[in-house]
Amino acid sequence: MIDREPEIKVALLQSYKEARIALRGRFLLPDGNAIDGRLTALADRGKVELSDYSGKKILLQKEILLIPESGASFTVSDVKIGIDFHWQRIQEQSFRGNLFLSACSNFSFNLINEILLEDYLESVISSEMSAVAPLEFLKTQAVAARSWLVAMLAKKKAARVLSVLRTENEIIAWQDVNDHEGYDVCADDHCQRYQGITRIISKNVHEAIDETRGIFLVHNGEICDARYYKSCGGQTEIFPTAWEDESPDYLASVSDEAGQHPPVRSETEARQWLKSRPAAYCDTTDKKLLSNILPAFDQETPDFYRWQVVYTRKELEEVLRKKSGIDFGVLQKIEPLARGPSGRIYRLKIEGSRKTVIVGKELEIRRWLSESYLLSSAFVVTAERNTNGEIGRFILHGGGWGHGVGLCQIGAAVMASKGFKVEEILMHYFTGAQLKKIYK
Ligand SMILES: [Zn+2]
Ligand SMILES: [Zn+2]
Repeated sequence: MIDREPEIKVALLQSYKEARIALRGRFLLPDGNAIDGRLTALADRGKVELSDYSGKKILLQKEILLIPESGASFTVSDVKIGIDFHWQRIQEQSFRGNLFLSACSNFSFNLINEILLEDYLESVISSEMSAVAPLEFLKTQAVAARSWLVAMLAKKKAARVLSVLRTENEIIAWQDVNDHEGYDVCADDHCQRYQGITRIISKNVHEAIDETRGIFLVHNGEICDARYYKSCGGQTEIFPTAWEDESPDYLASVSDEAGQHPPVRSETEARQWLKSRPAAYCDTTDKKLLSNILPAFDQETPDFYRWQVVYTRKELEEVLRKKSGIDFGVLQKIEPLARGPSGRIYRLKIEGSRKTVIVGKELEIRRWLSESYLLSSAFVVTAERNTNGEIGRFILHGGGWGHGVGLCQIGAAVMASKGFKVEEILMHYFTGAQLKKIYK
């Protein structure tokens, strides 16, 4: 386990050919010279070329480290947030901490921000959550994010896990953060959305980080891999539905309300579960509370607890062809083969006239079945037939938003607004875990 505050390497740009950077204040180069102002970084045969605004070359090296003098920051243009997700947009973003450029192939480089964990968290919480969210919720989010990150860094040092199993008729794939090489996390939702100091750090977020500084969620002497997502849909999910086949005790499936829902165990139960609206903390339509939790762009998804997606058969054939690269021919059946306790599918059989393939796990299923991503893989499919007996439309009734493993963010925010404290909220979602202050 760690004994002091770690430094985090965050990739702001991954595999870029060119980047425009503006230094606000002076940065030191390895040779001791200081630079400021506008710069261009260009990939050049396994190296990175750094030029100033006039085009004059400053450096050509495989790796370039720029260290800010007190108060200095840098701005990067063209940072995409929400890559491939339905709310993708481009922002100009500003960052504190070191700027590190590292060639990653002959004609690309990574632009990395090196920053202390607590500073990183302050930004992540500000980026992912609205500044006016309830304080106990922000503290909950701070402890979860801190724990997840450090657990992930420890896991990354361990052996790599195989994350794609591909045969002729079956593709089971998942993504985890140990996919990253040369840095710890990316700045997008794949890891945690990080927008540097672009978002102004609110008093509330600052207080949440400060009051929980160095505090982690632990279980059996280890820091918990405290995953989180937007809404469980009423019941939380277990780890192997989304990632490799291991099931830590603290990531058991729990019912997201005071009473107990039983887990989903069959297709009949999944249909009942997803077509009804059982009470749960994350079932809120309280617009004011939601706007106090989520930054503006996440409010573009109003129906997350129970949702519906309708495709004509041809539309779905086209989406599948585009997203999976497989031509299924005329779609005949979409059949869930395995679900986790929240109803999330992790093996789905897609039957067509030309090809039949089994796909998993949850994120791959969400990717295949939507132009962006389905909100979750907890859904039941109804094939609607025309008068001639052919399938005309596929209707998906779904529930929840995200992988469902660990902390339900909207549920946690509702709990906080009902007066629950950070310990109570975390104990609700992470069975048997405890809080521990590891550094001051
Ligand atoms: Zn990532
Ligand atoms: Zn929930």
